[in-house]
Amino acid sequence: MSIEAPPEVLDGLRHWRTLPARQQPTWPDPEELARVTEELQGYPPLVFAGEADSLRAKLAMAAEGEAFLLQGGDCAETFAESTADRIRNKIRTILQMSAVLTYGASLPVIKMGRMAGQFAKPRSADTETREGVTLPVYRGDAVNGHAFTEQSRTPDPQRLLEAYHRSATIINLIRAFTYGGFADLREVHQWNRGFTANPAYARYEVLANEIDRAMRFMRAAGVDFDALRTVDMYTSHEALLLDYEAAMTRIDSRSGHPYNTSAHFLWIGERTRQLDGPHVDLLSRVHNPIGVKLGPTTTADDALALADALNPENERGRLTFITRMGAGRIREVLPALAERVRAEGRNVTWVCDPMHGNTITSPSGYKTREFSTVIDEVHGFFEVHHGVGTVPGGLHVELTGDDVTEVLGGSEHVDEEALARRYETLVDPRLNHQQSLEMAFDVAEMLRD
Ligand code: PEP
Ligand code: MN
Repeated sequence: MSIEAPPEVLDGLRHWRTLPARQQPTWPDPEELARVTEELQGYPPLVFAGEADSLRAKLAMAAEGEAFLLQGGDCAETFAESTADRIRNKIRTILQMSAVLTYGASLPVIKMGRMAGQFAKPRSADTETREGVTLPVYRGDAVNGHAFTEQSRTPDPQRLLEAYHRSATIINLIRAFTYGGFADLREVHQWNRGFTANPAYARYEVLANEIDRAMRFMRAAGVDFDALRTVDMYTSHEALLLDYEAAMTRIDSRSGHPYNTSAHFLWIGERTRQLDGPHVDLLSRVHNPIGVKLGPTTTADDALALADALNPENERGRLTFITRMGAGRIREVLPALAERVRAEGRNVTWVCDPMHGNTITSPSGYKTREFSTVIDEVHGFFEVHHGVGTVPGGLHVELTGDDVTEVLGGSEHVDEEALARRYETLVDPRLNHQQSLEMAFDVAEMLRD
């Protein structure tokens, strides 16, 4: 029997419209936007309520130190790069990092892509000026094009439909790769094939050999279970574009509860987490597990108020705080937050985003990050939680499966000059495949300590 939602729940899902919204595009034709969102409302869900529920249960384990979340992917996905090869490379990177973490730390790893919907970006200015020409800023492929022309930069609601269709093809590939044999742990060596012999890969080969031996042992002992052949991989993105997120919010016929069916996990960005704002309002009403980014100016009162608004029942696994303090600030700012949240008995899964507090501009003008600084923030995150007695529950990183040169450092020593070689991101710099593996080895050691 299908359960319907009471009228006040349906009314509540429209309440965000009465609140002033930050970071929304100025759509040139509101009627076209309305037609598009109506069409979106008729599209099938991309994920199911039961999947979001199982993720929530796993995030509750991460809050207890019984699992660890690995959330990774592009700063901004693009339509042009939503190709099978690029997607496979990203999935492989996340699987390899997970193998390192699982084996190194003997912990189940929750695998989550910043994928299949990460098409909209908050920006620090509404416009961009080049050589005297001012145009709307690029807000992600779901909104406008990156090319600096008036036509491309004008927000186009049709892009919301394309974002949906791209998300559907990406999630389809994720499901195919993770259930169709590619994620089989017996393939750990395959995942490494074709990579050059640098320290991170050599280290990975050693680990892959150990995993192989463990697998052979289990096979000989008669163990042959599905968990070794398939993995659950979840999708996530920043819930930024309210029209899109609201159109994808549906009532689950089993429970009568609203779920955002565009991804398993949604997060609210640092720029849109105002307590009385529409993003907090809309996400407070859906049953998915959700996250909030917390930057260095967050106070303990802010964190508690967000917990009250987003998780009034204090349910485990419902709320994740993704801290992005910066390596220079985390040891000073995070302790007070973690202590208060713990003292007040709030159930929160703590996750570290070591990317967004550590963005710099290189002398030649590239937006970049230093690998060592990124790693330092992760160390600070573990130190603080160990000091306070709270649990470091996961990692949120911007990465790609390809050999780009966007983040400085790492064992391949990407330098200022190398940045020019393969700098491909349209927004923030990503760890490349090899830097991602290095980070996984480093974090595995911290988890073991
Ligand atoms: C992001 O995750 O790409 C982002 C914009 O993060 P934040 O909201 O933390 O700045
Ligand atoms: Mn980013």
